[in-house]
Parts: sequence; structure tokens; C-alpha cells
Amino acid sequence: MPMKIRSDVALTFDDVLLVPRRSDVRSRKQVDTSSYLTKQIRLKIPIVSANMDTVTETRMAIAMARQGGIGILHRFMTIPQQVEMVERVKRAESMIVDNPITIAASATVQQARELMAEREVGGLVVVSDEGKLLGMVTTRDVLLAVNGDAPVSQVMTPRERLVVAGKEETLESAREKLYQHRIEKLPLVDENDRVVGLITAQDIVKIQEHPNATKDARGRLMVGVAVGARGEDVERAQACVEAGADVVVIDIAHGHSDLVLDMLRTLKKKLSVPIIAGNVATAEGVRDLAEAGADAVKVGVGAGSICITRVVTGFGIPQLTAILECAREGQRLGVPIIADGGVRNSGDLVKALAAGASTVMLGSALAGTDESPGASVVREGRRYKVVRGMASLTANIQRKAIEKGEISEEDWGEVVPEGVEAIVPARGTVVDILHQFVGGLRSGLSYAGAHTIEELWKNAEFVPITQAGYRESGAHDVSKI
Ligand code: 5GP
Repeated sequence: MPMKIRSDVALTFDDVLLVPRRSDVRSRKQVDTSSYLTKQIRLKIPIVSANMDTVTETRMAIAMARQGGIGILHRFMTIPQQVEMVERVKRAESMIVDNPITIAASATVQQARELMAEREVGGLVVVSDEGKLLGMVTTRDVLLAVNGDAPVSQVMTPRERLVVAGKEETLESAREKLYQHRIEKLPLVDENDRVVGLITAQDIVKIQEHPNATKDARGRLMVGVAVGARGEDVERAQACVEAGADVVVIDIAHGHSDLVLDMLRTLKKKLSVPIIAGNVATAEGVRDLAEAGADAVKVGVGAGSICITRVVTGFGIPQLTAILECAREGQRLGVPIIADGGVRNSGDLVKALAAGASTVMLGSALAGTDESPGASVVREGRRYKVVRGMASLTANIQRKAIEKGEISEEDWGEVVPEGVEAIVPARGTVVDILHQFVGGLRSGLSYAGAHTIEELWKNAEFVPITQAGYRESGAHDVSKI
């Protein structure tokens, strides 16, 4: 019987360190942390939040995109629920309000007041039946008005006194107009004076607060969605892309499979957004997915903190070796690699990137933040948040419940989990966590004498270490306070 065993030992993050290099980086601010998520999308920071139901829903996706990374919405919900999450991320920040809330000139002041309160806006665009701009009415005009029955036309700022712009208005020019005229809202009209949008001072302030944000061509935050590889997942992907999703991730534990390759080819034909596929852990896996059209490949089999695939099945490759092998192939083919699983701190992040990954996906490292879904629990006075593998017992049961509407006793018995349920300490906001990760990455680039992640790939040299070397790496021979 042929017996195969590789002669090289496979390594993971704790098995190695990076060799320091002469550096001309004088300040950590000098380095550039941007990197490609897919062939088409470049992020300002190379960090992606995992498509897990204890990690990425709307709040996480918004926070990640604002900081310059991106979030991938998990798929363990109905299609309409996932679509709604996409829509909420796309609405969170945008220079132009596409469908401003309008009111007729004949409506009453009281109706305007109620509409503003209900929709939580500070102003309404007054339009004719044909959608032509007649004026603007703001809270200031209606809040203290005594006669609630008076028509809006009596209290609004009429068209001739309004400053307006066209749909192609730029951020700079809009800001200038708003400031020059000391106004807060700028209606956008077409050549027939029909209202086609609205720019508000508040939205511009929000945009300026997050200069690194990952944005689409229309200034909205970018967001990704995870889908499976079954028939209904085509519909799921299409619905999410229609709602504005910028990238689709075909996410299967064993991504080097005909099922994923078929799904990838189908989605590439039907959708115009980039498609990421995974997970794989070998160069052949990367090649096959790249040939089927993947715009990035996700790498990691059994490396996740909540994952027990290696114990249950005996399969997997320690993550650093997996990244090294996959990234070599990815770079040859021009396909970015996403290192997924096992990254616990900024040192692991730097090692994953140095091994050739373009971005890194974080699961449990982000599960303890305020923005992750799910409640927190208190144990012995400390706050924790729940994190669970998407192949864990409870996640499997919940998925069956969503699919079938109900679950039976046999359903529990049928599950063979490849993930666990766990808790992680509550860790503050995504901003706090990313600050630590990105700060460590900047420092790491400086140790490598690299100004960019691409230079890090070139300059990186790993050295395997012993248990003694590993012990020396952490705080040691001191008592922690
Ligand atoms: P972490 O950053 O927590 O170490 O790893 C997160 C990654 O673990 C996810 O992005 C996903 O690839 C993987 N993962 C999530 N849930 C499970 C699971 O139940 N089983 C396995 N094998 N992997 C999982």
C-alpha cells in the first residue's frame, strides 16, 4: 500500500519569529498598511471580520469599514434578513441621500412635524406632484409654529432662495457651498429641476471622521456577504448584491471541492462583484479556485480558535505553512490570499502577512468587542461575550431550525460538530482592538525595513524557534500585575 508522508514539518505562528532587518523607516506613520482584499478592492488596513454569527452583523460591518477594513456578514439567517443587513450597512454613511424624504407643499405644518419625528430627519424636501423642487422645510420652520394647520408652503424656504447642486456634485464643492451659505442641506436636482438627491452637512462630517473608510464609488461603506454552495445560495448571493453587497464569499469548510468550484463558476457568470472562495490549505486548492475565477482565496483548515476539525477528522495544515504554500501560488497567479483562523494578536497578523497573505480574517479576536452580535455574560465579576464555531452543535441546530422551521430530537443526535461554543473576555470597541493590531503591524513593518505589505513579503525571513525560545518571547520571570 503506498504510504505518503511529507518530510517537512509544518509550522504555525508560535513556531517561528521574524528576523529583524535594517530599516530606513523613521516613523511608524510613514508605513502604508493598505492591501488587496480581492484583485479589485484595496483596503487601507488588511483586516477582515469573520463571517460568524458571533462576529459579523451590521454593527461590526459598519465599524470595520469605517476603520478601513471590511466585514463579511455571516449566512446563518434567512435571505431577507441578510439583505436587510446589507441595506443597513449601505445606508450608514453616504455623501448623497438617494431618496430624500419629501412632502407636498399643501401638507400641513403638523404633518411635516410628524413626518420628521417618525423618520428621524431634520428636514424635508418640498416637491410638486411631478417631483420638482418647490422648497425645503426644516425643524426650525415647524417646531414652534403655532398654527399646525397652516400649509407647508407658508413656512418653507422657497425654491428661489435655495442653494442647489447637480447629481455629480463632489464632496469638496458640496462642503464649500454648505459652508459659504451657512446651510445644512443641499438638494440635488436634474435639468428639469426634479429632486434627485440630497447632501447634508451631517453626512459630510461623518465622512470626514473616517478618512480611511472602505467606500464604494458612491461613497457608501463597503460590505461583504457569505454564502454557501447550494442551489438557494445563488439566489442569496444575487439578492445581497442587488441590495448593494460589494463582495461575495463562498464559504465552505472544505473549499477545495467540486461543489465550490461549480458555485464559483455560476456566480462569476451571474454577478459583477468580486467573488472570494475558500477555505483551502494547499497550493492546488488555490490554483483550482483561481482557475474557476476566484478573485481572492481564503486559506485556513482547522486553524480557527473555536474549530475542532483537526481533532474530528484528522485533516488540516498548521496555518503558517498553509499560508506560505498558498500565498506562493496566489502571488504566481495574481490572486490575493486571505489568512483565516488562528490569529490572536498583532504578532500573528504580521507573521501571516509576512508569509504572503494580503489580508487576515479575525474571528474570536473581534468576538469580544461591543460591536459583535450577542449578549455578554458576567462570570466572577468579569464580562465575557459568547463566540461559537459555525460548525458547532448549537450553530448546526440553529441552522436546521431556520431551514426547517422546527427541530426534532433526532436532529440533535445527527450533528457531528466541528466547532465549539466558548466565551472570550469583553474587549471594548472595534476601534480599540484595531488600534492595537494596526499599531503592531506598523511596528512590524518597521522591523522588517518595509514601507508596504508587498515589501514585507520580499524582506521577510522566518526563523523556527524552540520551546525555550517561545518561552523567552512572552513576559517571563516576572509576576504579572
Ligand atoms: P479565529 O480568528 O477565531 O481563530 O478563526 C476564525 C475562523 O475559524 C473563521 O473565519 C472560520 O474560517 C473558522 N471557523 C469558524 N467556525 C468554525 C467551525 O465551527 N469549525 C471550523 N473548522 N472552523 C470554523
